[in-house]
Amino acid sequence: AKAAGGSAFVSFRAQMQEGLVERLELENDLRAALENHDLRLHYQPTVDLDTSEVVGFEALVRWPHPTRGMINPLDFIPIAEATGMIVPLGRWVLHEACRQAVEWSAAAGGRPLKMSVNVSVRQFDQPDFAETVAAVLAETGMPADRLCLEMTESVLMTDTEANLEQLVRLKALGLTLAIDDFGTGYSSLAYLRRFPVDTLKIDRSFVERLGGVLTGDTALTDTIVRLGKSLGMATVAEGIEEFGQLAALREMGCGFAQGYYFSRPVPAAEAGRLFLEGADT
Ligand code: C2E
Ligand code: CA
Ligand code: CA
Ligand code: CA
Repeated sequence: AKAAGGSAFVSFRAQMQEGLVERLELENDLRAALENHDLRLHYQPTVDLDTSEVVGFEALVRWPHPTRGMINPLDFIPIAEATGMIVPLGRWVLHEACRQAVEWSAAAGGRPLKMSVNVSVRQFDQPDFAETVAAVLAETGMPADRLCLEMTESVLMTDTEANLEQLVRLKALGLTLAIDDFGTGYSSLAYLRRFPVDTLKIDRSFVERLGGVLTGDTALTDTIVRLGKSLGMATVAEGIEEFGQLAALREMGCGFAQGYYFSRPVPAAEAGRLFLEGADT
């Protein structure tokens, strides 16, 4: 029993070391990918629920790894955040998404396209973040009012003067701000009035329960949509997979939606076609 315990311990240590080595490897690979411009953006359409038109996209970063295949953002964004790489990575995402939006919009005869970009706390906390965003807008020619920055409640909820000032500086550029995964944080709703937020993105966990038979399951989503309306905010539902969910959200008066029901996040070429097709009809 003693020997078995010993070897179990050794193998546990070996495993831990393996984990560390793997993480270091991944970190180095990510740094190289960023430098060599090997990261890609996929785009998921946002649909206007009144007109069923594609009005824009959310940019979602992808990492095609040379040996491991496509790596999910949830597996490398945390590494980028822990190492600070998220700052240059995030700037690249912002630049590429804006550049692409300008190109597609021009190809569609100037039809406006709203582009949403996810922003990490680490980026938002950079004192020069607003200047960075302003520089990217200038570099790409992206009209500020077509850019939406998505941040989670944890960013917005930290009710400090510094945070509020940062948000005011961003708003002053003329862009829109969205709360991502709304309803999953520990929000006191007071911050919604205090902070200059334009859009609530209703988390997929709420949408999942829509279209079923239990009426109680729709109550929370309905409340969020009403809350958004009463505060003059746009509401975007994420993770629509079924027609029943779409119907329920329309009924509630939710403004916009995203989800596999309409389209998965797709590579740039395909997203561009989706947008152009939408312009024809
Ligand atoms: P998120 O911002 O909440 O993005 C929505 C996620 O849900 C995306 O996963 C998307 O592919 C997925 N999704 C969309 N529609 C559906 C649906 O109908 N059903 C299901 N089951 N899933 C759906 P993805 O692309 O793997 O991204 C995961 C998370 O990684 C994002 O969550 C976001 O927090 C983060 N992320 C992605 N790109 C970036 C980025 O450029 N910067 C930062 N800071 N974070 C990013
Ligand atoms: Ca998002
Ligand atoms: Ca989200
Ligand atoms: Ca989410």
